[in-house]
Amino acid sequence: MHLLVLGGTTEARRLAESLTAEKGIKVTSSLAGRVARPRLPPGEVRVGGFGGADGMAEWLRAHRVDAVIDATHPFAGTISFNAAAAAATVHVPLLALRRPGWVPSDGDRWHTTDSLAGAAELLPGLGRRVFLTTGRMGLAAFAGLDALWFLMRSVDAPDAPYPASMEVLLDRGPFTLDGERALLRRHGIDVLVTKDSGGAATAPKLLAAREAGIPVVVVRRPPVPEGVPVAGTPEDALAWLRSITGARA
Ligand code: NAP
Repeated sequence: MHLLVLGGTTEARRLAESLTAEKGIKVTSSLAGRVARPRLPPGEVRVGGFGGADGMAEWLRAHRVDAVIDATHPFAGTISFNAAAAAATVHVPLLALRRPGWVPSDGDRWHTTDSLAGAAELLPGLGRRVFLTTGRMGLAAFAGLDALWFLMRSVDAPDAPYPASMEVLLDRGPFTLDGERALLRRHGIDVLVTKDSGGAATAPKLLAAREAGIPVVVVRRPPVPEGVPVAGTPEDALAWLRSITGARA
């Protein structure tokens, strides 16, 4: 069986790792190529776009793919919709692997919104020194906020346009609670912006913000394409894969 894993996440890498032990499954992981030095999963890896849904359908056919697991980041909406369309075109089973989103706890001061533009609208009413953790893409949404100062953390350096008053912190999770507490203090942060990425690796910032009484702007996830089954963990994805392999036998 040839399985295509659409990756770029810790879960995708973990899935590829656990699949190396499975007999009779060849795994190809696909990365967009956004990160200069990605952590590569085991098995075969291809890098770069497919050329839209049609390009992916063609790739699935040409490489005789039997199943696709879309383990991309919850905010990578385009590739997920392309995968749904391509899998439907070539009649290949598709599963979305999505780590569960974060949920607020007592003491959290969350403000939710559907987009980075929505987050930018909320910010002036919430603080002046912003810890921006939404990644290096889409910073144009915050570019007009000249009265605010930004600490922007990302794996690779961002391209303009971005806010005029911005310090860039190049770093990659997992992050610790102590580290996040120190960061908020050192930079006098009074508001945090995050996507609802979920997962443990970047969650400590939420706890640090709660402890410090700092408001958090949380950008909600885009929906998973309709009709695509969802697994919350690599283990559940593996169980799905076994179920369809069994069905094929
Ligand atoms: P996106 O908006 O959904 O995708 C844009 C285009 O990038 C797609 O149409 C596709 O090009 C290509 N692409 C995306 N993921 C791909 C993959 N795994 N393999 C091959 N091509 C891929 O995605 P994005 O938000 O730019 O994110 C890009 C990648 O970074 C994703 O794989 C995602 O898992 C990872 N990532 C994203 C975020 C985030 O916040 N968005 C955070 C962490 C990691 P074609 O149309 O040419 O096929």
